[in-house]
Amino acid sequence: MTHQKGNLMRTTVAVVGGGYGGIAVAKELDAFTDVVLIEPRDTFVHNVAALRGLTDPQWTDHLFLPYDRLLTRGTVLRDLAVRVDAASVTLRSGTRIDAGHIVLATGSAYPFPAKADTEDSAAAKSRYHHTRQALAQAGRVLLLGAGPVGLELAGEIKAAWPDTSITIVDPGPEIVSGGYSGAFRAELRRQLDAMGIRVILGTRLREQPPTAAGTAGTFTATLQSGERLTADIWFRCFGGAPATGYLAGDLTTARRPDGRLTVTADLRLAGQQRVFALGDITAIEEPKQAGTAVAHAPVIAANIRTLLDGGGPLTAYRPGPPGIVLPLGPHGGATYAPNWEEQVDPATAAHIRQHAKERGDTLLAQGILGAELTSQLKGEHLNVGEYAALLNAA
Ligand SMILES: Cc1cc2nc3c(=O)[nH]c(=O)nc-3n(C[C@H](O)[C@H](O)[C@H](O)COP(=O)(O)OP(=O)(O)OC[C@H]3O[C@@H](n4cnc5c(N)ncnc54)[C@H](O)[C@@H]3O)c2cc1C
Repeated sequence: MTHQKGNLMRTTVAVVGGGYGGIAVAKELDAFTDVVLIEPRDTFVHNVAALRGLTDPQWTDHLFLPYDRLLTRGTVLRDLAVRVDAASVTLRSGTRIDAGHIVLATGSAYPFPAKADTEDSAAAKSRYHHTRQALAQAGRVLLLGAGPVGLELAGEIKAAWPDTSITIVDPGPEIVSGGYSGAFRAELRRQLDAMGIRVILGTRLREQPPTAAGTAGTFTATLQSGERLTADIWFRCFGGAPATGYLAGDLTTARRPDGRLTVTADLRLAGQQRVFALGDITAIEEPKQAGTAVAHAPVIAANIRTLLDGGGPLTAYRPGPPGIVLPLGPHGGATYAPNWEEQVDPATAAHIRQHAKERGDTLLAQGILGAELTSQLKGEHLNVGEYAALLNAA
């Protein structure tokens, strides 16, 4: 049971941040101990679907899922952690929570529309609706950044407004940088070309557009190459930043210059016995994804259970194989999954191989799932049912 006295609260485990990893670990912990989940937003935000939530009004509501049925014994506290040390969490409201164990799950911020930039879901929905209206009027869209967010946003805009002209600009030499294969990038480029989306690599704007990102306003910008581009709206599709500024005391030694936190194999903060971290804020060498944040949760819950039971060997987290599911609208996109056969049962693998053979699909042999399978894996449903079920909000 959690105890409160004045502006001091005590709990066995404080989970800081109610994103993908935070809800997963809080739910696991709730089954066997006292847990307080601290989160400033009034609802969980399913940002995996944020770009569809921008372009398709039916999806805007699906982005915001209630927290109130997540925990059966524990508490979700709507507040922001402003200071966390090895044994306590101080909140914006002034309350201090003394905790036996702390799980840091504060994720990362990303420019709108990829992540909502307000704690209030009604205000966030209103911003998505306003921006959608601006997009609907825009004949020419400029996207800065050819990573997964820039590409996904381009695909969603094309699916909603096929006549809109879209240009993506990125200073890097290739789309979707990282440990993916050339064949994966080539398949995405092929689909982008077929959709009429222009990608300009290896150059950047000479200066920032004169309008604010995501607001209507025609402008002409000049690339370093000298080419001039005119657009009616633009979006920033880069610049994710881990949220770890609240660390205090000894905990700060685990923070790297890029803001990420060094963790041990058992997902404790380096140098700490009772403070864990998961998801986007960790410096683990693996893609920063909701799926990996959720995969950290059972390891942390098991380790806290072991510590509460008096100690013993702790479970180590082992990063999974590399992979990414990258939809280009509900029916397009590609998935990089070189180890896909290890993740499905043999009968399903045989069925997928047979289906690919019948269709003359040569991508599968290169560890790439094409548009149809990508649509089935994510593009059609954007995993909303999975997280609604986790929150008991289905
Ligand atoms: C457009 C887009 C599409 C994506 N699609 C996919 C996908 O298809 N599959 C996939 O696996 N990943 C996807 N990702 C990546 C995925 O969203 C992140 O990796 C994931 O959100 C990380 O989860 P997390 O639990 O670490 O943090 P987050 O989900 O970022 O949650 C952190 C939470 O902590 C809260 N918080 C922050 N600071 C504090 C504080 N001081 N006190 C209390 N609470 C705080 C925040 O409000 C937030 O709710 C996508 C990302 C984007 C932007």
